Amino acid sequence: MSGPAEVSAGRDSAGARFVHEGILRRQSARESAARTYARALPIVPVRARGLTIEGADGRRYLDCLSGAGTLALGHNHPVVLEAIRKVLDSGAPLNVLDLATPVKDAFITELLQTLPPGLADRARVQFCGPGGTDAVEAAFKLVRAATGHTGMLAFTGAHHGMTDIALEASGLACDMRVMRLPYPQDYRCPFGVGGARGAELAAGWTESVLDGPESGFSPPAGMILEPVQGEGGVIPAPDDWMRRMREITAARSIPLIADEVQTGVGRTGAFWAVDHSGVTPDVMVLSKAIGGSLPLAVVVYRDDLDIGEPGTHTGTFRGNQLAMAAGTATLAHVRENGLAERAATLGSRMLTQLRELAREFSVIGDVRGRGLMIGVEFVDPEGGSEPVEGGAGAFGSGPVDVGAGASWSLGPAEGVGRHAAGPGLAPGPRPPAPELAAAVQRECLRRGLIVELGGRHASVVRLLPPLTITDEQAAAVLDRLADAVKAVAQRHARGDQTHQQRHRTSRHGARAERAG
Ligand code: PLP
Repeated sequence: MSGPAEVSAGRDSAGARFVHEGILRRQSARESAARTYARALPIVPVRARGLTIEGADGRRYLDCLSGAGTLALGHNHPVVLEAIRKVLDSGAPLNVLDLATPVKDAFITELLQTLPPGLADRARVQFCGPGGTDAVEAAFKLVRAATGHTGMLAFTGAHHGMTDIALEASGLACDMRVMRLPYPQDYRCPFGVGGARGAELAAGWTESVLDGPESGFSPPAGMILEPVQGEGGVIPAPDDWMRRMREITAARSIPLIADEVQTGVGRTGAFWAVDHSGVTPDVMVLSKAIGGSLPLAVVVYRDDLDIGEPGTHTGTFRGNQLAMAAGTATLAHVRENGLAERAATLGSRMLTQLRELAREFSVIGDVRGRGLMIGVEFVDPEGGSEPVEGGAGAFGSGPVDVGAGASWSLGPAEGVGRHAAGPGLAPGPRPPAPELAAAVQRECLRRGLIVELGGRHASVVRLLPPLTITDEQAAAVLDRLADAVKAVAQRHARGDQTHQQRHRTSRHGARAERAG
């Protein structure tokens, strides 16, 4: 097992620490309070290669954050650097708005090769501002223009970005134009049953919202979903549910938008996460890894939706040639080297090992993921099983026929949980423990491992290693994580004993006082 001492790159001098601390001090004095990763990860990266980052203090870290999933090939992969250098050396313009260039032409050709055939054959590619959220905005405008409708269907726990409409779809801002529907999940199933039955109930709910005259929701412009929710806590949608969403939307002429900003380019063990279910969406929103570590975002959609006016959604930075070249190299490398398959194999092995860890430590409530998109949910081991969050009230109210012979009568105050689901069911999940997840993140960092936190309660430790991670590196990642979990679990148990001791002492004191 590796300890803090082993992660030094050998330049851990007083001078290096002085530089490191000075930069961090100036950052907190000068940068916005809106900064996020920088708070939990007080590191100052100066060099990076593959899975490894070296900090200004000379310490080395294994990076399982990967630029929030942008680094399919890890940091500074040779094929990416070579592609960038080639553009630089060629004298090509670096930013060309949306003009045609050989670099962009090559990017589109490579991208189309990877897309689900039903979409690739009739695809239009729209370049947007370089963030994923801008592509989400563009996709919404596209389907609104194409259908003449405004409402959007989205799912609880979703994350589609930080602009206003994307926030609405993520459930973080309230707007009547977005209807949130239950996303299927096993551990905190909104219907309290999980598995195939929970997914079936979630699909039935969606159907009844669309068809029920009492829902008060006029025909929507589109449905947006993540095939695996990332920021929502690494929740993979079952393939059957994905196919049901495709059937439901197709039958009602509702464009289906797959947000593959985080799941794309091999991350989940298929080139695109929709490939697992064989679903062909009408629209795909792509960003992060498609730019090979540089900013790039596109919307890909079927040609019959291409009825928008020129200028409906523009942006200055749609022509980043370095990002397109880095992206082409990344897409080709993942495709040619079978890195999606590698992610599937290694990811399932890592999940198995993490599930063994979960059996050992009761602070881990759930381990889940797909490919190299992995989440470990931390819970309060002493907490009782929870009523399931976001039950009925999160989606709407009124009697709803959820299909398959079941009927739920729900009001906003009347949540549906495992407890409500009937006899013979497993007890519900224990309460999320964001403080334990944050402690594990800190302990990981001490051991030279960078992980992200996510989930609706920030109680999920997330691993997004590059697809190029070796078996040995994966073993080192799991070793460090296991060490960190052990340290946090032991401290938690000690704290709990102390708490119980204090509780016993105060009860004893109270009894003695009463007796006196
Ligand atoms: N969609 C998904 C699924 C995401 O995970 C994210 C970001 O994490 C976004 C959209 C927004 O992308 P960006 O942060 O680049 O705007």
